[in-house]
Amino acid sequence: MPPYGEFIFGHEYAGEVVAVGSTVDEFRVGDRVVVEAHMGCRRCENCIRGLYTACLNFGNARRGHRANGFTTNGGLAEYALNHVNTLFRIPDAVSYEEAVVVMTAGSPLYGLERAGGYFAGETVAVLGPGPIGLMAVQLVKALGAVRVVLTGTRAGRLQLGGELGADVLVNSREEDPVAAVRAATGGRGADVTIDCAGGDDTFDQAIKMTKPGGRVILVAFYHGPVTADVADAVRRNLTIYTERGEGGTSVGRALALLEAGRIQAKPLVSRVFPLAAVHEGFEVAEKRIGDPIKVIFQP
Ligand SMILES: [Zn+2]
Repeated sequence: MPPYGEFIFGHEYAGEVVAVGSTVDEFRVGDRVVVEAHMGCRRCENCIRGLYTACLNFGNARRGHRANGFTTNGGLAEYALNHVNTLFRIPDAVSYEEAVVVMTAGSPLYGLERAGGYFAGETVAVLGPGPIGLMAVQLVKALGAVRVVLTGTRAGRLQLGGELGADVLVNSREEDPVAAVRAATGGRGADVTIDCAGGDDTFDQAIKMTKPGGRVILVAFYHGPVTADVADAVRRNLTIYTERGEGGTSVGRALALLEAGRIQAKPLVSRVFPLAAVHEGFEVAEKRIGDPIKVIFQP
């Protein structure tokens, strides 16, 4: 990330097209668009193979890489320059607020794709009922999972997870989440476990609550090194997937799922502030005042 002051941050944003480049015929002035953060360099071997969120020139603007709002001007700028590759037209029936939240669904959807994208008849455990976890619950249901166990520490978020499709809610402050998932699966463990929490102990929990031969998907960013019983994962032949960002044009596909009514975004929009109240909005988000899921700024 360049030093603060060299760019204006905000990587989850939507807006109106006010000008287009001379070769652009995909979008017109006035189009409503939502942005995905990652713009690969289009010249390294990973980008050529479609793995643009793992671009080998990540952060190298001279070679064409952009991470909108991370290395270049993003959502809090008055105007932001975006490559057409990173834009998705917002359907008429979808609000800016919903579109921004759908951008959040891009990451778990890409993680699900990396893990095979097929969950028919399976039981999935999701750790962490934050915006990513609440989207993961909805996405695995849309992709055929029959049962979702959601674990977390905040009752309000767990309840929302239940309203969005989670079948079993586990408050990990009150009960052992590994034992709860085992109990909910007749002792064998989840077919797939998705860590959207990124806690010090959630990687270890994810391993232990997954059945032998099952899959673990790591979506969260951990704060630092974490301890997990990886030997247990080896002995029981688990497959561990990682994912970086909303690769695979997942934002566009999540937007299509929203438009088709397969996932919801509105319940995740907790507070909307005018840009003039930006400090108040950040305080609400940072101090978790009223436990907001997503805080959104409007011009
Ligand atoms: Zn690249």
